[in-house]
Amino acid sequence: MSFDPHTIRAEFPILGREVHGKPLIYLDSAASAQKPRAVIQAMAGAMEHAYANVHRGIHSLANETTDAYEKARESARRLINAASAQEIVFTKGTTEAINLVASSFGQSLKAGDEIVLTQMEHHANIVPWHFLRERLGVVLRFAPVREDGSLDMEGFRRLLGPKTRMVAASHMSNVLGTINPVSEIVYEAHAAGALVLLDGAQAVVHAKVDVQALDVDFYAYSGHKLYGPTGIGVLYGKAERLAALPPYQGGGEMIGVVTEEAITYADPPHRFEAGTPPILEAIGLGAAIDWLDTLDRDAVAAHEHALYHRVKERLNGANWITEIGTAPGKGAIFSFAMEGAHAHDVAQILDRYGIAVRAGTHCAEPLMRRFGVTASARASFALYNTLEEADAFVEALNRTRTFFA
Ligand code: PMP
Repeated sequence: MSFDPHTIRAEFPILGREVHGKPLIYLDSAASAQKPRAVIQAMAGAMEHAYANVHRGIHSLANETTDAYEKARESARRLINAASAQEIVFTKGTTEAINLVASSFGQSLKAGDEIVLTQMEHHANIVPWHFLRERLGVVLRFAPVREDGSLDMEGFRRLLGPKTRMVAASHMSNVLGTINPVSEIVYEAHAAGALVLLDGAQAVVHAKVDVQALDVDFYAYSGHKLYGPTGIGVLYGKAERLAALPPYQGGGEMIGVVTEEAITYADPPHRFEAGTPPILEAIGLGAAIDWLDTLDRDAVAAHEHALYHRVKERLNGANWITEIGTAPGKGAIFSFAMEGAHAHDVAQILDRYGIAVRAGTHCAEPLMRRFGVTASARASFALYNTLEEADAFVEALNRTRTFFA
């Protein structure tokens, strides 16, 4: 199978629009990716032809919708090679998936228990654990990040000990693009007797993930970064881990029996899906994954790397750009500071050229502090970006520079 970004682009209606009279160059896919027609049509098609609430119906539309919703769970399983669809919990996104684990697993923790994170975590994988620090006196430890943006594995190992109960780490950093040595992290954490949660919000888009090979306990990802809709994400949990977790929210669908005196709970995954779930969004996510499966994922990854390297090559070591995160094997994310310019101003000027990049802390304040910056600008590349766009980005950076030089 070959891969041609120009053909792919035609499947994304939004990429045909202009911004400030210029063709849109969308370099903000790490924040949220655009949607192919396959996803748009799957959701519209469900609303037009087969929609009702799931699981509780006897009538045909309820059954058809339930089948579509559960088919999406199977696609979500296949994407990460989970052993069973019962290990796939639909959530609102990565953030809710991590909150679910922190909240439910947190009930087994006590003061002095330790959670090991890394300095490169997104706030989604920091704040839920801070809740446990505030409420229970759990201790948070942050594994250090090296100057090139790679994880300091020696430093990580030093933090593991008999009190470590959970290691929660990003598979791929949304700022640095670093891809962490997750097999090693899981192995070391398990050897210390801790469970592992991996934040796969970025990684799942760019790399093949196999939760069984990784032997990871929990894995979280979001639909909207994966060319699917917002409002849907996945928490994978090993069957025995999910079985041991108390419920997160209470309501319909997550119960066994409810009386005035007592309740029993449903088995996973329904135990963690209280209320009417994001049905259309799950169908959209399933469509996104099925669509991705029609592509050669290795060729896609190679293309994204080529885009990143094209930018680096064209910048040709420009001393007025400082890249944050240069770890070997990193993903196609280019975070940078421009000499003399605030990241927000850079992003605003680039927008005038039709180029969308993100600027700010990227929800990773500890990491910003680690690198001694208050903000960075970030271009993130996706399968629909072209080498011509990478060149236009570098040209626009050169022009932007003249405002500050
Ligand atoms: N973790 C990482 C690494 C992310 O990049 C993001 C999204 N920026 C999240 C977690 C949170 O994902 P969501 O907002 O979809 O819940």
